Amino acid sequence: MTDNKQDETIAVRAGRHPRQNHGVVNPPVYHASTILYPTVEEFDGRVDRRGQPGEVVYGLHGTPTTFALEQAMVELEGSYGCVVLPSGLAAVAMAILAFVRSGDHLLMVDSVYEPSRIFCDNVLSSLGAETTYYDPLVGSGIEKLIRPETKAVYLESPGSLTFEVQDVPAIAEVAHRHGVKVLLDNTWATPLFFKAFSHGVDVCIHAGTKYIAGHSDVMAGLVTATEQTYATVRQTVLEFGQCAGPDDTYTVLRGIRTLPTRLKQHSIQGLEIARWLRQRPEVMRVLHPALSECPGHDIWQRDFLGATSLFGIQLKDYTRGALTAMLDGMQLFGLGASWGGFESLLIPAYPEKLRTAVPWQGEGPLLRIHVGLENTRDLITDLDQGFARLNAVS
Ligand SMILES: *Cc1c(COP(=O)(O)O)cnc(C)c1O
Repeated sequence: MTDNKQDETIAVRAGRHPRQNHGVVNPPVYHASTILYPTVEEFDGRVDRRGQPGEVVYGLHGTPTTFALEQAMVELEGSYGCVVLPSGLAAVAMAILAFVRSGDHLLMVDSVYEPSRIFCDNVLSSLGAETTYYDPLVGSGIEKLIRPETKAVYLESPGSLTFEVQDVPAIAEVAHRHGVKVLLDNTWATPLFFKAFSHGVDVCIHAGTKYIAGHSDVMAGLVTATEQTYATVRQTVLEFGQCAGPDDTYTVLRGIRTLPTRLKQHSIQGLEIARWLRQRPEVMRVLHPALSECPGHDIWQRDFLGATSLFGIQLKDYTRGALTAMLDGMQLFGLGASWGGFESLLIPAYPEKLRTAVPWQGEGPLLRIHVGLENTRDLITDLDQGFARLNAVS
């Protein structure tokens, strides 16, 4: 399948078949519900082909457009199969529901993306499945939390808002010894900067909405899986009647073509801004996995191939008034949820309202920054003026 090509080459080539499409470079967008069959024999035979990758049997089960995106993800990440979903959160929900049902137990990282936590607290609990939140830095200590009914351990590395890097191989080793599946939200690193399946992950979740699509104009989720877990994931997704629209699917695949190039630049610019912020007197610490003060930095260095440009800024003790004066006046940094697009964002974050396993103790306000593709000198000027407003109110 992957025949040892480098990621940049895979991103450009995977899932494309120009010769089968009049030489057109990009795969066509198939809009489909009904699929017509020539005979009763073949119509009846479609039942056995449902849910098989590459088999066009009904719009819900995917078209060549869907399979092209799935193929690109499989090759980039080194997984067995991929399922495309209408949002990242749908990918989270489907991956969990594939393995955790009534009476089961889920171990969930305390630094998880907030809507994933809400899904566990509301939907899973209403189904009679229990969730235990654990310290993101638990490592092989996860063993103490495993129960006979534990079906899955869910990781997100680095964590949302607070950026703790998890010891994925250590957790996976323990989990597998107990027959527990390992699910990872790999949205931050993308398939390029963390090779989840070579670190023991069974099922990987991506918000395609973020860096993969990369232009803040589409919602998408992707679940990639090993040969042992893929059929269960696919079946769950089909049973819930989930599929992504063809135009969105196409848009995400187009994003993959430039993903390595965009990420290289995001990575360089993110680190430049992180280092600049680190020496500012207003800043207590910068939670960037590639900087030594980020919890789990050593693990990042051991396991990751790069750092994207989303990170945290822990400020010293400033009032809310000072903070809003800074953020409301930003010229280039936008105030908005989501990230991974070409534009820079700067928002306040409140992990202390979410944490249950390990309370978050920040002494000052926490900001989450996404460094986009603008010129970094312009971004630094904008931040510098923002700090002037912060200090003016204090
Ligand atoms: C945004 C995000 C999601 C959800 O993606 P949507 O496409 O916005 O639903 C899941 N996980 C993480 C880590 C995210 O940042």
